Amino acid sequence: ALAHANFPRDELIEYLHLIQDRYGHISPDRLAALAHVMKLSQAEVYETATFYAHFQVTRDGDVAPPPLTIRVCNGPSCKMQGAEALVHELGDLQGGARIEEVPCVGRCDGAPVAALGKNIIPSATAQTVAAATRSGDSKAKIGTYENLDGYLAAEGYQAFHALMSGVLTRKDVFRELEVSGLRGLGGAGFPVAQKWRFLDGQTKPRVVAVNADEGEPGTFKDRHLLETQPHRVLEGALIAAFSIEADDVYIYLRDEYPHIHTILSTEIEQLMRRALTHGIRLHLRRGAGAYVCGEESAMLESLEGKRGLPRNRPPFPAQAGLFGRPTLVNNVETLYWVTDILNTGGADFLARGRRHFYSVSGRVKTPGVKLAPAGVTVRQLIDDYAGGMSEGHVLKGYLPGGASGGLLPASLADVPLDFGTLEPYGCFVGSSAVVVLSDHDDVPNLVRDLMDFLAHESCGQCTPCRSGIPKLQSFLDDPHAHRDIIEELSQVMRDGSICGLGQAAPNPVISALRHFSDDFKPKDRA
Ligand code: SF4
Repeated sequence: ALAHANFPRDELIEYLHLIQDRYGHISPDRLAALAHVMKLSQAEVYETATFYAHFQVTRDGDVAPPPLTIRVCNGPSCKMQGAEALVHELGDLQGGARIEEVPCVGRCDGAPVAALGKNIIPSATAQTVAAATRSGDSKAKIGTYENLDGYLAAEGYQAFHALMSGVLTRKDVFRELEVSGLRGLGGAGFPVAQKWRFLDGQTKPRVVAVNADEGEPGTFKDRHLLETQPHRVLEGALIAAFSIEADDVYIYLRDEYPHIHTILSTEIEQLMRRALTHGIRLHLRRGAGAYVCGEESAMLESLEGKRGLPRNRPPFPAQAGLFGRPTLVNNVETLYWVTDILNTGGADFLARGRRHFYSVSGRVKTPGVKLAPAGVTVRQLIDDYAGGMSEGHVLKGYLPGGASGGLLPASLADVPLDFGTLEPYGCFVGSSAVVVLSDHDDVPNLVRDLMDFLAHESCGQCTPCRSGIPKLQSFLDDPHAHRDIIEELSQVMRDGSICGLGQAAPNPVISALRHFSDDFKPKDRA
């Protein structure tokens, strides 16, 4: 019967998830069966499954992996808080379980973090992980959030309804966005009104794609917004769809946020059942552990059920995006502010001053998501928002924009964090993922970790990135001796890489050499 069912090609990753979730791995016979029912070649299914870290594709004769996997985050903030020691201790404790180190899981405010299935364990110790393991508690934990009834009671969906009933027009939306000066908050900072206008005059049908795949190590603000106020983001997405005359909204959610998947599934079902989307279809899709899919064109490929290989441009997504349709891609936080702007007006938004959600973690007393004015400094974030430096730690520097935004020293702690302010120092703020470093941290080791991460996550599609990152890594034992070639190679990577991953990959090395030059000398040249 399955062979005659309809299995849309773009849902391949969803089906792979079903198999992985149920059996803990994807065996050759199940892979072949899936290819058969989807009328795809086994090679197509295999290449997709093996691209994503969250699918474990086994071969004939392989021993099935242990039913239990404990994942320990090895992102920068978790490492600072003892993730390596935790892995070591768990290795001694957990007979039979598989211990896996994984890239940043977007919980830097709870570092160190371990995950047992969908159960995320913040401030993890060997004891708390062992307790969860014994109880077999692998379910996602959902906190308190504003559900549909709560949002409606707080006058939610008013802006969207004003549009649907003709009280507001598309023109009004574009004007308000223009006045507000809102810029995209996924990292690039492109003016939102201008981006939406690109869709004008494009063919129909059109699509909105919501990028909820924040994978930049140190970033967790989108998680915070979706797990507390999902409808405010959904309303922003519906406003976007109506404004660009799109019929469908696709939400691409990173797989590290299973609790949000549950929240969004429930709330979207409610919205659709009560006909509150006015015919606009909302589709929720899971990522599968590929950082590069945060790049918009790679995300579109993944939404089509393929490997997340970034596309060459042109054509841009606004011309030919998801399924070849004109597509508007916006980040979660951007859509959150769209709803705010439509409710109170662009002028009011501007008058209140631009604000962003900053993800602050590392050596501070109270890490977390901080709403602060655009242009706040890291010193203010530490002292006024994050309770000061951790006890016994002195500020040494910081990552202003996650793994690829570069490193800055304490002497530049008073530079405003905003679009364009850090470029003179060879860094950028990106998605505002601020990781604070102290005198306890070793910069060369951190740079090695960041480059390992980028090497692991490169899709390998283009030579400057695929070969350039390992080459840069090979110079890290004595970077001063290779300074000229590092500079030259970095320029080639910036100029010749297809996507932002390769273009920004030299940043940790170049900025560390510029601002922490002495850190590489005594130890690494001894
Ligand atoms: Fe892939 Fe890197 Fe090229 Fe981007 S720059 S397309 S991640 S190889």
